Amino acid sequence: MKNDESMKINDDAKKSVSELFDQFGTTKAGLSQVEAGSRLSKYGPNTIQQAKRQSEIIVFLENFTSLMAILLWASGIIAMFAGMMELGIAIWAVNIINGCFSYWQQHAAQKATDSLKKMLPAYVKVIRDGKTEQIPVDQLVPGDFFQIQAGDSVPADARIFDSANLQVDESSLTGESVPVEKADSYRHGDGEFAQQNIIFAGTIVTSGTASAIAVATGMQTEFGRIARLTQSQKKVIYPLQRELNHLTRQLTVIAIMLGIAFFLLAVFFVHYPLAQSFIFALGMIVAFIPEGLLPTVTLSLAQGTQRMAKKHALLKNLSSVETLGETTVICSDKTGTLTQNQMTINHIWLVAHQYDVTGTGYVNNGKIQANNADVNVQQDGDLSRLLSIATLNNDTEVAENPDGGKAKILGTPTEAALVILSRKAGVAAKVENQRFPRLKELPFDSGRKLMTTITKTTEGQPLIYTKGALGSELQICDRILDNGKVRALTTADRDNISAANERYSKQGLRALAFSYRIVAEDDPLNDTEIANYTIENAEKHMVFVGLTMMSDPPRPEIFKAVRNCKRANIRIIMVTGDSPITAKSIATKIGITSDKAQVITGDELDQMADKDLREAVKGEVIFARVAPEHKFRIVSMCQANGDIVASTGDGVNDAPALKRADIGIAMGVTGTDVAKDAADMILTDDNFASIVSAIEEGRTVYSNLQKFLLYILNSNVPEAAPSVIFLVTRGLVPLPLTVMQILTVDLGTDLLPALGLGIEKAEPGIMDQPPRPQNSHLLNRSIIWKAFGLYGLTASVISTGAYFFVNHVNGWPSIPLAASGLPYAEATTMTLGAIVFCQIAAAMNCRTQISSVFSIGLFSNRRIWLGIGVEIVLIACLMYQPFLQEIFNTGPLNVAEWVFLFCIPIPLFLLEEARKWAARKISKNN
Ligand code: ATP
Repeated sequence: MKNDESMKINDDAKKSVSELFDQFGTTKAGLSQVEAGSRLSKYGPNTIQQAKRQSEIIVFLENFTSLMAILLWASGIIAMFAGMMELGIAIWAVNIINGCFSYWQQHAAQKATDSLKKMLPAYVKVIRDGKTEQIPVDQLVPGDFFQIQAGDSVPADARIFDSANLQVDESSLTGESVPVEKADSYRHGDGEFAQQNIIFAGTIVTSGTASAIAVATGMQTEFGRIARLTQSQKKVIYPLQRELNHLTRQLTVIAIMLGIAFFLLAVFFVHYPLAQSFIFALGMIVAFIPEGLLPTVTLSLAQGTQRMAKKHALLKNLSSVETLGETTVICSDKTGTLTQNQMTINHIWLVAHQYDVTGTGYVNNGKIQANNADVNVQQDGDLSRLLSIATLNNDTEVAENPDGGKAKILGTPTEAALVILSRKAGVAAKVENQRFPRLKELPFDSGRKLMTTITKTTEGQPLIYTKGALGSELQICDRILDNGKVRALTTADRDNISAANERYSKQGLRALAFSYRIVAEDDPLNDTEIANYTIENAEKHMVFVGLTMMSDPPRPEIFKAVRNCKRANIRIIMVTGDSPITAKSIATKIGITSDKAQVITGDELDQMADKDLREAVKGEVIFARVAPEHKFRIVSMCQANGDIVASTGDGVNDAPALKRADIGIAMGVTGTDVAKDAADMILTDDNFASIVSAIEEGRTVYSNLQKFLLYILNSNVPEAAPSVIFLVTRGLVPLPLTVMQILTVDLGTDLLPALGLGIEKAEPGIMDQPPRPQNSHLLNRSIIWKAFGLYGLTASVISTGAYFFVNHVNGWPSIPLAASGLPYAEATTMTLGAIVFCQIAAAMNCRTQISSVFSIGLFSNRRIWLGIGVEIVLIACLMYQPFLQEIFNTGPLNVAEWVFLFCIPIPLFLLEEARKWAARKISKNN
């Protein structure tokens, strides 16, 4: 198999273009849509099939083999052998219900996580029916023509037709992390995957561009073949899971020790029969082991990630929810994240003329609407040249929407603005490109901030066009186009250009500079083959033409998002490739910094010692004209200061910073595959405001987990208190709560309201608090004190009080405490009822940590009320259904007793509201 596939790839590499066209039944216009459709059904979608998960049956059965489940199985058997058949069956039934519930939670969490994966389809640019379009990667079929560029993940095994500076990281196939050069001619290097003109699915384009024809897709690719051989499902353990496992283990040890102590005391101190003592001790163990914790927490996190996805933030793994809540600094790009990435060119600056571009419509007659008049482009040679560069040095296509809606951009908004500018002036990109076909491209990269194309003049001379950041352009220009004439670029010119740039940049406009060079006979490049034009020899001795200034308005939601960050003590550091003046203007406009902020450029950053940089990132700072590589250092320095850093990125070179950040955030719309791959979170709308929503959601999920934990732990104390009373009185007080009743609370009635706590909305003021300290524990002191002290002890006093009260009504202390029969059943039922109603109060009290429950709405969480309703119906069934009465040792309560139970939550709720009110007052005064 392996050899066949490899041989086929080798054959495809050696074939001529026309042979390949014949083989795949295609032409330069690509496949037809119909043919592509039929190939899709023949070859299947272009996806790598996931490894088979562990069989569902095994996953299901695992829920019945945990330590607690085994204990319950064993005690069921012991009960049965000790002649307590019904108790044995009941214990088993409870065990089965509990296992099914855990499985359901696990399944729901898995479904939630799986659905996230489907939310971000990758796209590829293909040519079909002669038109370029973007299709989901899984629709790609053998024979399709497609285009790729730096940052893309190669979608299929493909033969290169055309390429510029193409380098591919093939480490996913070969393990070799140094990128290899690829080109359209055949050459075979050493080893496998070494054909120069073949690119392989799953590898990554690190630089350059190419168009290629797919020769194998999906599982037929080399990557698919390897994946089939090596796929294995790795279980990822997230920190919270580790903490919970640890917590569960600790509580289990405590529970077992308590159980053993209770067992020994029951046997030797109370002289209780052996089997009964065992089951009694077991009740304690089960009550204290928080078995359901992990599945519930996982489900809660998974649901949290789903809510985040609705707010445009896709998390790749659950652990990021936790980190989001701790974030103290966000390093954010400017363009497209803080701004709308909708570029409009407002000004054109040429040395002889300047134009304020005013019109929005297309004139299409060779005139441009500027300076409130129609300007004839042909009459200004400098303007014509600038528009020619803007058109030809451009990889973006703008497809007008026939319905009059937004135009569809295939490429970048910066270049789209240039296409539209040219169109306004009646310069059609298609016509220009046919007149001057492109011979070579030196693609844009955010390091040198330039892009160069090489075409030919009508006289056949090579024509080099460059556009890019002003600083980079000024470094490569030594001449200037002035009113149709080329002359030397003087220092005065440079000052003049920089002053113009500064004037516009102060308004937050983004500059792009244009230059050209005609390779005439006296040019050093004259004897060089176009193929040998490089950045070093082509991007020099250029003629400066002019500048365009474009506006990119801030996103409307940004102002509020920035204010929220400030309230939440989260600092924002703008890290942009744009110029310092533009960056500062935008940063102050949207409120990220004051105008006193320090602006550090990439060059300055290179000169700075770590110590100084660490100091700088503590204050108000903006980084401008930086390359993505600088971002890594900025993130690292913030981390060295103890910050938890979220960092955005979209390009290939952003990957290291994204990996380094505690939360790497890639842009879903404009981001490259590489960035998305390296990130922990993907923004489906590229919007900074979505990061802030995600942080709020992260904080909410974490605080909901604490509420949930408090809720489930606080019932342990009243569950244990009756057994303690039984033991210390040497059995004089019969067990006020039987083992089955303990199991009812622990594995039955408790669970439903707890689920409601997991979906509680954000508590007001959650973004007014500083970020949670790093490494703080879910189970903190305040929760321990509330669970075992405040809530736990109160519930114990109330429930055992209720037990003695019923006995008192029935004649105690004149007659001894009932140990069997209806009076005993009635008394224990009352204990059970009182615990359940204390739990109802706890469910309400746990809904907020410090705010009043009224502030989030008493009835706003329907799931909690539903849980409470079901809980009450459940204990009513236990009280009145004869079959259940027998198993659970319960009896009917009278109206007065029911009234008593219903009254329990009211004072508990009001007292807690008063405590929260006092706590709020104290924290305000501090
Ligand atoms: P941010 O880093 O906030 O996203 P940015 O888009 O300005 O901002 P880069 O993409 O690194 O950052 O671009 C840096 C500079 O390079 C821009 O300010 C612009 O002058 C220039 N530039 C951007 N896109 C192109 C392009 N396609 N061709 C040539 N030059 C470009």
